[in-house]
Amino acid sequence: MINPLKAHKTRILLIGICVSLYTYPVRADPLIDSLANMIDAIYGVAAGIAALLIVLQAVKYKTAAGPVERDEAKRGILNVVMGLAILLVAGYVVGLIYYVEPVKTPAVIPRAGGTTRIVVSTPTPSSTTSAPPGTTTSSSVPVTTTAQVKLTVMYVPVDWQGALSGFDSAVAGQAGFLISNIPLKDCPASVRILKSSTVCTINVPLDQAGCNAQTLNIIRKIEQCAKAEGKPYDYAVGLTNVDICGQVLGFSIQTGVVIAESSQALVTTHELSHEWGLNDEYVDACRCGFAVNPRTNCLDASIGGSDPAPGYTAAACAGGNQCPGYTKTCEGNKNPSGGRCIMSHAIATEPRAYCTHCWSHLITVPMLKC
Ligand SMILES: [Zn+2]
Repeated sequence: MINPLKAHKTRILLIGICVSLYTYPVRADPLIDSLANMIDAIYGVAAGIAALLIVLQAVKYKTAAGPVERDEAKRGILNVVMGLAILLVAGYVVGLIYYVEPVKTPAVIPRAGGTTRIVVSTPTPSSTTSAPPGTTTSSSVPVTTTAQVKLTVMYVPVDWQGALSGFDSAVAGQAGFLISNIPLKDCPASVRILKSSTVCTINVPLDQAGCNAQTLNIIRKIEQCAKAEGKPYDYAVGLTNVDICGQVLGFSIQTGVVIAESSQALVTTHELSHEWGLNDEYVDACRCGFAVNPRTNCLDASIGGSDPAPGYTAAACAGGNQCPGYTKTCEGNKNPSGGRCIMSHAIATEPRAYCTHCWSHLITVPMLKC
């Protein structure tokens, strides 16, 4: 029997694609990498098509002339649901979620190689038995200890200009900020810091568009350089003293590799935190559907999560009803020291540390437990 809707299928599908694109608009913010937007758009289109196919099959079921056709329609609906499930699982596994970090405001953020404004001794939440900050931070050589190593970070000098002694001190600052903020601060000897001794030449583009176009390439090359050291590690962090990627300070694509300008300890810690399941707090990630993990660090009005970033209103943050896009719209939750959470944007109020919601999640991550 001829499906009466068949002739209109193509037209209906096209309308569906338009409707779904409207419902899930491609984020136009130029600071956010295009791939994440593309994936969102693909999900949107897929959702639209799936909804349409389900309606079509439902109509077919209703108008079916016999049990054979009804079975066909049922199978059709099942196939659509399975297709969607496969797409979601594939998207999750591939983990192609980009985190291009927020803008560098030249007036506030020092240029690479400039004075670092990293707060190493920031008190962290729920610290009663905290080891003194900096215990393992004065040295960037592997920690020699009998303690069980829980976390190993390999730092790689990328396109490094000048003597590598500058890289050594950058790593010390980077590792210091990281170790003094994560739950392993109570057993700093369990963090192993490794350094690549050779410069990884990538020629990272100096402009943002160039970086966007070469993101995967850059990440892969850092990984190659890190692996060439022949030592096992959990995360590779490429550090450069070149002012790369225009207004972008650093980025990661959740594959265990991060790149950042060497003065930006906050950015690398922030990026690694995504690996551990934390969301950005410069957007209302949970409410707006940008969350990596909707059960972790949502913006919370009771700790400043409703404070908007310049140019936006509280409507874009906790308790609001607007989602202007994946860009710097909020200031993030406050940390117990009164500054903003590490998961907020790069130039939010100091001192920087994790907010209580981030902390509650991080202490559940096995590799961060002493
Ligand atoms: Zn982020």
